[in-house]
Amino acid sequence: VRRLPLPQTKRHEQRNPKPTKDKRKKMTIVVGSHIWVENPVWIDGEVLNIKGDDAEIQTSDGSKVVAKLSKIYPKDTETPPDGVDDMTKLSYLHEPGVLHNLATRYEINEIYTYTGNILIAINPFQSLSHLYDADMMERYNGVPYGELRPHVFAIADAAYREMIKEGKGNSILVSGESGAGKTETTKMLMRYLAYLGGNAAAEGRTVEQKVLESNPVLEAFGNAKTVRNNNSSRFGKFVEIQFDKCGRISGAAIRTYLLERSRVCQISDSERNYHCFYLLCAAPPQVDSSIFYFSASAILHLGNIDFANGGDNDSSVLKNDESLFHLQMTAELLMCNPRALEDALCKRVMVTPEEIIKKSLDPHGATVSRDGLAKTIYSRLFDWLVDKINFSIGQDPNSKCLIGVLDIYGFESFKTNSFEQFCINYTNEKLQQHFNKHVFKTLQEEYTKEEIDWSYIEFVDNKDVLDLIEQKKGGIIALLDEACMFPKSTHETFSTKLYQTFKDHKRFIKPKLTRSDFTIVHYAGEVQYQSDQFLDKNKDYIVPEHRDLLSASTCSFVAGLFPPLTEEVAKSSKFSSISSRFKLQLQQLMEILNSTEPHYIRCIKPNNVLKPAVFENDNVMQQLRSGGVLEAVRIKCAGYPTYRSFSEFLSRFRVLAPEVLKMDCPENEACEKILVKMGLRGYQIGKTKVFLRAGQMAELDAKRILLL
Ligand code: ADP
Ligand code: MG
Repeated sequence: VRRLPLPQTKRHEQRNPKPTKDKRKKMTIVVGSHIWVENPVWIDGEVLNIKGDDAEIQTSDGSKVVAKLSKIYPKDTETPPDGVDDMTKLSYLHEPGVLHNLATRYEINEIYTYTGNILIAINPFQSLSHLYDADMMERYNGVPYGELRPHVFAIADAAYREMIKEGKGNSILVSGESGAGKTETTKMLMRYLAYLGGNAAAEGRTVEQKVLESNPVLEAFGNAKTVRNNNSSRFGKFVEIQFDKCGRISGAAIRTYLLERSRVCQISDSERNYHCFYLLCAAPPQVDSSIFYFSASAILHLGNIDFANGGDNDSSVLKNDESLFHLQMTAELLMCNPRALEDALCKRVMVTPEEIIKKSLDPHGATVSRDGLAKTIYSRLFDWLVDKINFSIGQDPNSKCLIGVLDIYGFESFKTNSFEQFCINYTNEKLQQHFNKHVFKTLQEEYTKEEIDWSYIEFVDNKDVLDLIEQKKGGIIALLDEACMFPKSTHETFSTKLYQTFKDHKRFIKPKLTRSDFTIVHYAGEVQYQSDQFLDKNKDYIVPEHRDLLSASTCSFVAGLFPPLTEEVAKSSKFSSISSRFKLQLQQLMEILNSTEPHYIRCIKPNNVLKPAVFENDNVMQQLRSGGVLEAVRIKCAGYPTYRSFSEFLSRFRVLAPEVLKMDCPENEACEKILVKMGLRGYQIGKTKVFLRAGQMAELDAKRILLL
């Protein structure tokens, strides 16, 4: 737990936060109060009677309920009927208030809402094309953040202006759960950046066109239909757009993270494999005969090869003529020898001190071998595709300015959680730390620099979870790698090791009634992981037989995907695992992000039926919590959500007290005189800026507008 600065006036509340809060609430809720009560969803009502700790309430749907005072919240009757476009403008900040605001806005298709500098985007599940047309882009171009209605374009515009003005990289981090709208949002951001930085006069296809055109290609090979999203990206993506001195797009690079390899051979009911396989099957044969597509249909044939027992119990043969046909097709497409392919699938070379023997695999072993080969080919194809796209877009080595857009899976907690969820949640812990640091540090720095009074508020830092996962010595990843290196380990020995090592760790729990599950207490809640596939999924290892087979392909494309191991590389290459490679990638990503000015977009999926106009309270609340939105709102409002330099403040509010400007006193005194005259309290005058409490700016503006 770290402590951070917050206003002096709050100090007495922080020491004893709970009782004070309750007392305050009791004083704010009286007979006749308009309130929110959970019954079982949030509903508004009026207090009829209070007896002790209980309140009798007439709800707006006509029923009467009794609820504990501590469970009801005041309702702001002054909030405009259409809600407010920035959550920090709410006069009462609590869960029902936040939810109500989002729900009201969603009902009238206002899907965007600010929370200070965070944009909340709720998936409309219907086309709102007018929101993104050329007119709209023109409207947001160059308009200061916050002046127009909340929009993704406003975020992109702010990032672009800041990059130009400060000569510094900016990044836009888009997060949310599967189906929340991250990828769509990313596409809008790119389109707007292409509009701002595009080179209309250029001949031929421009960089921005190529970046936009890479989307459908990447989606064909990296997206699939899942239960949560019909077009779910099964990889994380960071697009770095490079700009030249004049602010024109001069290059771009796409980095991808953690493609879900298992989908190539394991798909649950009602989900599908990667789109490209269906496109391929539907395409007329003459459509595209490029070798790249051959490799992808080779994978299809490979998947149809089945094995049967080969006489004795320990070997396998092709199951039937059909399998033989698919084997021949696969070999033909990969341009390798069919016998060698069969051997690579059904046999393993064992090196013993005495001799080298070929050991046969049983049908199960051969199937695992087949799937391993398919996954390896697919992931190499995907990497090749990304390289090819990057090459074709082109990089600008001289670019000093970039805008990075991150489209990455949000926090996941399902009934069963495996290695993929572990990596995804690890990513989110990293991003959460970045987010916390940004929100809190900028506040702290600002307040310290301005030498204004502050007291402290507690906030939970997630460094301890990250240490648990990624610590070099004895973190979960390190232990997993260790387990993968010992041939005798099983998921049970791995779990036992975890239980022993983290017996007393606050963020680690050994769940009752299981022998191999483990629970991590993430910032967004507890997740119980099933360890049974962790070892297999973590191994990033190509069977030498597979490598030899494919590097011997007479097709240079296929052979190129599998360069033979030179002795040097083989010796020097240390054990590599998916998780530690991913850890490294994440570190590199964080380095880039840390060198940029971040902007945050939190996408929210309003319902699980993927339909418009359905807003599920609990579901949304959970996502706001996981995204750190509530925490950010609380911190921001408890501090000074708005501040202005003395001169900005004076030029805006001089009309409120023209006599003050005639007095010829220093700027800070002039500001103070205006604030005193307006009867405001709790604000702070810093060294160069005026810091206002939540709502005070609006109050001053209202008075100013009356005078204009
Ligand atoms: P994610 O990348 O977060 O998993 P997507 O961006 O793929 O989710 O969005 C899922 C689906 O939701 C899209 O295919 C689209 O139908 C719909 N959607 C998301 N955002 C919007 C939007 N701004 N306008 C219209 N439809 C949207
Ligand atoms: Mg996506």
